[in-house]
Amino acid sequence: MHYTEKLFIIHYAEVGLKGKNRVFFEKKLAQNIKRSLRGTGYAKVQRLHDRIVVHLRQGTDIAEIEKRLRGVMGIAHFELVYQAAKDIAAIKDTALQLTEGKTFETLKVETKRSDKSFPLTSPEISSEVGAHLIQQTGARADMHNPDLRVWVDVSHHNVYIYTDKLRGIGGLPVGVSGKVLVMLSGGIDSPVAAWQMIKRGAKAVFIHFYSYPYTDKASLEKVMELTNILAESNYQSIIYLVPFAELQQTIVAETPAPFRVLLYRRMMTRIAQHVAAFDEAEALVTGESLAQVASQTLTNLRAIEAIADIPILRPLIGDDKADIIAKAKQIGTFEVSTLPHQDCCSLFVPKHPATHASVAELEKAEEGLDIAALVEAAVDRIEKKIVSFSYENGALL
Ligand code: ATP
Ligand code: MG
Repeated sequence: MHYTEKLFIIHYAEVGLKGKNRVFFEKKLAQNIKRSLRGTGYAKVQRLHDRIVVHLRQGTDIAEIEKRLRGVMGIAHFELVYQAAKDIAAIKDTALQLTEGKTFETLKVETKRSDKSFPLTSPEISSEVGAHLIQQTGARADMHNPDLRVWVDVSHHNVYIYTDKLRGIGGLPVGVSGKVLVMLSGGIDSPVAAWQMIKRGAKAVFIHFYSYPYTDKASLEKVMELTNILAESNYQSIIYLVPFAELQQTIVAETPAPFRVLLYRRMMTRIAQHVAAFDEAEALVTGESLAQVASQTLTNLRAIEAIADIPILRPLIGDDKADIIAKAKQIGTFEVSTLPHQDCCSLFVPKHPATHASVAELEKAEEGLDIAALVEAAVDRIEKKIVSFSYENGALL
């Protein structure tokens, strides 16, 4: 049998709605698709009007490509299309090939004919192809709720045949919405917060504060692994590692115990802002969720935010823990997040931290601290790491 040309046709939802930015969006999506498909041996990624086409070579691993496309932010849905010559015998033959390996008892063929010069009408094509498939596979026709739908699209150049649409992940192509600096702990929430922002098209850069040698290195290992997982959608990723122990000791020595967590947080935020300015990130992102823990009451969020001069985005603010956990499992970060570690913010904290600290109280507590010098000292010791994504060098997993 001759080789049937196969391709993936990719559709996006919101990307197409962005007016003047449309070309920028489409280029970014095409570029991200190419990144995600490195090493699969695809032939070409092509931008067409309102869709992107991935051309395949003979022998390409179609299942692998499908798997990777499912994870590309910005794809609403896509389909694997078999191309046939404009001839009813070829259409029937190709439609049959398309059903190979699929299990179904009932089917329906639907035809769209944009080339009106084709000798058969749409209903005639559907009925001929349907009859052929039924005869060859033993399936029955079902016009209302078929197990398998076969679509035949007779366009001006070719005939495209495909079965049901495959769902993409949705969202927007990474990189179209600017850059954010994600405050990444080793916990469950912040990786999910990061993922949600990446899904809305933001390029994420990460920052992590650690208290080694007061804690072990588990949190560092965990955030590296979490960044690895997030890099599958964020692509090559940068993480800034900030040694925080000395600064914490200063806070412990100089300030009242009930405010410690909030004071750590304010210092973390100040340092993060510094990094954001340097790396041109336009907002900070945290995994905070309203009232989940003492430091996340409205009053405390406000007291932390009071020192910030860029937006602090909290995509999980209204989410229940159970939903965040379900999301973490879906993204694949949950297992790593639940490995044991000690967060720097849990270090030297009292049994009963303040749940309602006012901005004035925190300002007073910080009076004895040389904030600028502390921030500068921490920034000087930041280590920057670059995390690549698994297909970056084209390697097939
Ligand atoms: P997570 O599961 O993300 O750790 P959490 O419920 O444990 O969140 P907190 O420990 O209060 O909540 O942290 C709130 C947010 O502050 C985190 O979601 C994260 O964005 C940020 N954060 C906390 N600890 C660190 C850290 N060591 N480095 C960077 N960011 C941190
Ligand atoms: Mg935490």
